Amino acid sequence: MGRAFVYVILGGGVAAGYAALEFTKRGVSHGELCIISEETVAPYERPALSKGYLLPEAPARLPAFHTCVGANEERLTPKWYKEHGIELVLGTRVISADVRRRTLLTAAGETISYKILIVATGARALKLEEFGVNGSDAENVCYLRDLNDANRIVDVMHSCSGGNAVVIGGGYIGMECAASLVISKINVTMVFPEAQCMPRLFTPKIASFYEDYYKSKGVEFVKGTVLSSFDMDSNGKAVAVNLRDGKRLPVDMVVVGIGIRPNTSLFEGQLTLEKGGIKVNGKMQSSNSSVYAVGDVAAFPVKIFSETRRLEHVDSARKCARHAVAAIMEPEKTGDFDYVPFFYSRVFTLSWQFYGDNIGEVVHFGDFSGNTFGAYWVNKGHLVGSFLEGGTKEEYAAIAMVTSLKPAIEDLAELESRGLSYAMAISREPPPSQVTNVDVSGPSLVLEKPMYRWHATAGVILAGSVAAFAYWYGRRRRRW
Ligand SMILES: Cc1cc2nc3c(=O)[nH]c(=O)nc-3n(C[C@H](O)[C@H](O)[C@H](O)COP(=O)(O)OP(=O)(O)OC[C@H]3O[C@@H](n4cnc5c(N)ncnc54)[C@H](O)[C@@H]3O)c2cc1C
Repeated sequence: MGRAFVYVILGGGVAAGYAALEFTKRGVSHGELCIISEETVAPYERPALSKGYLLPEAPARLPAFHTCVGANEERLTPKWYKEHGIELVLGTRVISADVRRRTLLTAAGETISYKILIVATGARALKLEEFGVNGSDAENVCYLRDLNDANRIVDVMHSCSGGNAVVIGGGYIGMECAASLVISKINVTMVFPEAQCMPRLFTPKIASFYEDYYKSKGVEFVKGTVLSSFDMDSNGKAVAVNLRDGKRLPVDMVVVGIGIRPNTSLFEGQLTLEKGGIKVNGKMQSSNSSVYAVGDVAAFPVKIFSETRRLEHVDSARKCARHAVAAIMEPEKTGDFDYVPFFYSRVFTLSWQFYGDNIGEVVHFGDFSGNTFGAYWVNKGHLVGSFLEGGTKEEYAAIAMVTSLKPAIEDLAELESRGLSYAMAISREPPPSQVTNVDVSGPSLVLEKPMYRWHATAGVILAGSVAAFAYWYGRRRRRW
C-alpha cells in the first residue's frame, strides 16, 4: 500500500510547523503536502517543554503552544492542517528512505512517495549508555526532548516534591530544568565535567554570574566530574548517583541533559553529511536536488562566517524552514539563506540573548552585580558576537544590529568603556566607514556609499524586528 504527495515533510517538530505555514502562504494546494511525525501531536514549540511546561502552577499545555505561536503568528492546531488540506500522518515512524526512488517506508509498512522531501527530523537526546553508564531505563531517570519526556518529568516531579534531584549536564537543558525543579521546590545538585555551566557559549565571568544566581536559589554545583553509576532499589528506581570523583549523592530523581545527536541515520550513505548533519546549500537543498533539510539536522552555509554550521536553536529552525519552502515554491525569487545566529534562554527571572559567534577576544561590559550586563566578541578586528542579559527591547535590537554589521573594532579598551552604549549608538547611526571596511562575507554589508543608508536602514529594521519579537517572546510569553 502507498500514498503519493508532491511535498513531504519528514518530522513533525518546530521546523515542520513553520514550513507548513510557509507552504500555505505560498499557495500549496489541498492534498499536495503531508507531514509525517513519530510524535502523536501536531508540531509544537519545543522550547516550551523546559520552561512553562514544567511550572508547578498553571503550566503551559497544548494546544497553547502549537507552532507557530512562537513567532506571534497563527497557532497551527490539527484543525488548521485539516482546513488547509495538509495531511498529518502522526504517531508514524519512518524506518527507511530511498532518495533515488523518492520513497519513505513507515513502521506501519506504508510506502509514501514524494516529488520534494524536506527532512526535519531534528535530533535525539544522547543517552548515558553512550558514555558507558547504565540506568536510563530507571523510572526516575529522565531526559527531555519531546512531549513524552516532559510528561515523564512532570510525573516524577510530582512524586518527589521536597526531595532531591541531580541534574547531569550544565548546558541549556540542564540549566532550564534545574530552574524549573527549584521552582517546584525540589533540591537540585547540578553535576557536569567542565569548570563552568554553559561552556560552549558563556565566558567564565558570565557563567559565574548565573552559577551565583542559581546558588542563591539553593542549587549546588559539583563540577569537574561525571556520573559513573547509579545505586538502584529493588524496584529499579535510582536512589543515589555515584560520581567519578567518589562522591555519592542520594536522589529522588535525575534529569540528564548531556547533548543531542542529529537524526541523520535514514540518509547516511545517500546524502552528503557534514558537521554531524545533512549538508545543504543556501537554498537548504541537499546533495540530492529533490531533498531539502532544515532545523537541527541541517548543516548550512552561514554567510556571515563564510562556513557551514549546524545550529541547534529554535530561531534558525523556524527561519531556515521558511527559507527552504520559499526556495522550493519560488526558486527564481529566492536567494541564499542569510542568517545571523541567534540564541536565547530564560531561567527564573533572568533572560539573555546572544547573536553571532563567540570566537576571538571577549570584551565584557555592564554591571555584573546588577541586572544588565553583556559581552562582545571581537575576531580579526571585527565585532562578531554579542551577549546581553536583562536588556530592553531597544537594547536587544541594538546588539542584533551591531552583530549583523560586523563593525571594525580598533580599540578593545574603548569598546569596553562604551559597553552597551556602543551598540546603541551604532544602531542609531551606523558609521559608513566601519560598514565599508567589512569583510565581503558579511551580510550585504559591502556597500557602495549611495546604497549604504538604504541597506543600513533595512538592517536596523530587520535586526529591530528580530529583537523586538525575541523581547516580546521573552517577556510576554515567559511561560514558554
Ligand atoms: C526542552 C527543549 C528546550 C529548548 N529550548 C530552546 C531555547 O530556549 N532556545 C532555543 O534557541 N532553542 C531551544 N531548544 C532547541 C529547539 O527546540 C530546536 O532547535 C528545534 O526544536 C529544532 O527544530 P527541528 O524541527 O529541527 O527538530 P524537532 O523540533 O526536534 O523536531 C523533529 C521531529 O522529527 C520527528 N522525527 C525524527 N525522526 C523521525 C522519523 N524517523 N520518523 C518520523 N518522525 C521523526 C521527531 O519526533 C520530531 O517530531 C530547545 C530544545 C528542547 C528539547
